[in-house]
Amino acid sequence: MSNILTASLRERGMRVTSQRVVVDRALRELDRHVTADELLGAVAERLPNVALPTIYATLELFEELGLVRRVQRAGTTLFDPRTDPHHHLVCTRCGSIEDVECDLDTVALERAARRQGFEHERVEAVVHGVCQACSD
Ligand SMILES: [Zn+2]
Ligand SMILES: [Zn+2]
Repeated sequence: MSNILTASLRERGMRVTSQRVVVDRALRELDRHVTADELLGAVAERLPNVALPTIYATLELFEELGLVRRVQRAGTTLFDPRTDPHHHLVCTRCGSIEDVECDLDTVALERAARRQGFEHERVEAVVHGVCQACSD
């Protein structure tokens, strides 16, 4: 059981349901960017009565709790179990998405956002292009 999940739920007076625990565990086990559909597939055996809307609702809750991040890839929403600052490489051919480490100086962008009256929460970069597998 994820102690972070349990602690975050208890802190907000929310119930630690087996459903939430199983979804959280599946996310950590998969340990990559996943769609809600993929996640549903991963928990189907353990949670046979769970449908896609429940997975979305659970992921939205996890997002609120800071346990996942949303990443967009050409119209698909992926959920990222990694929530520390990092950036992404998105392949325009196969749609793969990987993490990339870089200390990006985002101060100028944050300043420009503020000038437009936008209050930023986080800045992350997406590099669009062709992945190694596709360019071989
Ligand atoms: Zn590719
Ligand atoms: Zn990521």
